[in-house]
Amino acid sequence: MLGSWPARRAAMSPRRTALIFEDRRTTYAELHARTTRLAAALRGAGVRRGDRVAYLGPNHPAFVETMFAAYALGAVFVPLNYRLTAPELDFQLRHSGASALIVAPGMPPVSAGTTVTLAEYERFLATGGPAPAPTPADMDDVACILYTSGTTGTPKGATLTHANIVWNCYNLLVGVDVISDDVVLISAPLFHVAALNQCLLPALLKGGTSVIMPSWDADDCLDLIGRHGVTWMFGVSTMFAGLTRSPRWDTADLSSVRVLLTGGASVPEALIRRYQERGLAFCQGYGMTETAPGATFLEARESREHVGSAGPPVFFADVRCVRPDLTDTEPGEPGEVLVRGPNVTPGYWDDPAATAAAFVDGDWFRSGDVATVGADGHFRIVDRTKDMYISGGENVYPAEVEAAIFEHPAVAEAAVVGVPDEKWGEVGRAFVVPAPGRHLTPAEVPAFLRGRLAGYKIPAYVDVVDDLPRTGSNKVRKGELRALPLPTRD
Ligand code: ATP
Repeated sequence: MLGSWPARRAAMSPRRTALIFEDRRTTYAELHARTTRLAAALRGAGVRRGDRVAYLGPNHPAFVETMFAAYALGAVFVPLNYRLTAPELDFQLRHSGASALIVAPGMPPVSAGTTVTLAEYERFLATGGPAPAPTPADMDDVACILYTSGTTGTPKGATLTHANIVWNCYNLLVGVDVISDDVVLISAPLFHVAALNQCLLPALLKGGTSVIMPSWDADDCLDLIGRHGVTWMFGVSTMFAGLTRSPRWDTADLSSVRVLLTGGASVPEALIRRYQERGLAFCQGYGMTETAPGATFLEARESREHVGSAGPPVFFADVRCVRPDLTDTEPGEPGEVLVRGPNVTPGYWDDPAATAAAFVDGDWFRSGDVATVGADGHFRIVDRTKDMYISGGENVYPAEVEAAIFEHPAVAEAAVVGVPDEKWGEVGRAFVVPAPGRHLTPAEVPAFLRGRLAGYKIPAYVDVVDDLPRTGSNKVRKGELRALPLPTRD
C-alpha cells in the first residue's frame, strides 16, 4: 500500500518539491523514478515480498528511497539507530533476518546479505530498471520493524503494518490540519517513529515538502526554519529546550511556523510557556512506537487553554487509564495508559512472549506509562511506571520533579532518577544543566524546590553537569544516570 505513495504523488503533483536535503531538492517525479529504480535493483539482488531491508545511517534522502523501495516490493523495512554499537546492530540485523542493507559512511562495521554503501548507492540504483515493481503488500502486512530505542533495556522489534501507519497518518492529519503548502522540518532521526510516521509520511501524503536535517543541531534548526519557511516540526522536549539556549534564539525568524509538536518524553510546562510567550502554538501529543505512534494529541487551538495536557485520544483510537485490576480510574486518579485502535501494533517481531505480555483485556495495548484523565477527557502523562521510585513509602514521579526544577531561570535541562538509600529505600538524584552564561550551585536546587514540592520529592543529591547522556532519539538515558556511582553526602 505505502509502496505506491511516490507513484500516486508523482501523478498528482510531479513538479512539487518532496524533499530538501542540504539545499538539494527532489521533486515527487524524481522521488518516484528513483524509488522505482531502487526497488528494481533490490529485486535484482533477490529481495522478495516479506524479506527484510535495513537502512543504517543518519537522515538522508536515501533513507526515504530505501523505505519506499522496500514497501514497493512488499518487503519489510528495518531502519536502524546509527548510534548503536556494532554488537547491538548485529543483534537487530540477525533478529530481523535482514537480507539487504543500505549503509552510510562511517557506520559500525556490520553487513547483511546484499550490503550497499552510500558510496556505491547511485551505481546500485542504476542497475534497476524504470518499470514499476508490483505492489503486492496488503494493508495488514508488516511494513516495518522498529526496534524500541532502549531507554529501558533490551530492544524489542515492534512491527507496524501498512494499515497501522496509514491510520496514524489520518490521525495526524486530523490533529494538525496538514496542507499541501506545508513545509515540515524533519529534525528528529528518521529511524525513530515520530520523524518517520508523524512528520515525513503525513507531509508526503498531502504532497508537502520535507526539509531533512542530517542530524540534530539547534543553530541549524533555527536557520533552516527561516531559510525554507518551515511551517511545522516535531521534537522531543530536550530539542525544544536546546533551541531556547541557542545564541540565535532571540533573533531567529520563526514567522512561518504554524505549529510545533512535541511528545516522546515529558514536557515541562515552563518550556511550553516559553514558546507560547513567543506566540508559537506548542502542541503536546503522547504515543509510542507500538501505536505508530500517536495515541493522544492536543490540537493547536486548545493548546493555550490546556497547558501540560497531552490532549484527548487521537480521532481513530481508544485510550483509557486503568488501575492494576484493569478497572477504569476516576478523573484525576493516576493509572496505566492502555491503547486500542487501528494504529496499534500486531506485536513484536519473532517474540510471542513479549507480544502476549503487551496486551490485556482483549486487544488493549499496555503502555507502561502512568497518566491521569480529567473529566474533560484530557490526558496528562505522569511518567513511565519504570521511572517511578518510592521514597519513604511515597511514590515519586521524576517528571514532576524535573518540571519543578525547570522553573528555575538558570536551568536549561534537568533529569531526575531514583537511587538506593538506607533510610528512605530510595531518594532522588537530580542532574541539572545550567542555562548558557548562568551559574548554578547544587545547593540552590533543593532551596528552590522547598515550598514548591513535598519534602520527600526533593532530590537528596544534585549534580550540576554540562550535558545529559541521550538515546538516538534525543531522550535522556536514565538507566545510565541511575548507574553512576553516588557521591558521598554531607
Ligand atoms: P522503550 O525503549 O522503553 O520502548 P522508548 O523511549 O524507546 O522506550 P518510544 O516508543 O520511543 O520508546 O517512546 C514511547 C515512550 O515515550 C512512551 O511509552 C512514554 O514513556 C514516552 N512519552 C511519549 N509521549 C510522552 C509525553 N507527551 N509525555 C511524557 N512521556 C511521553
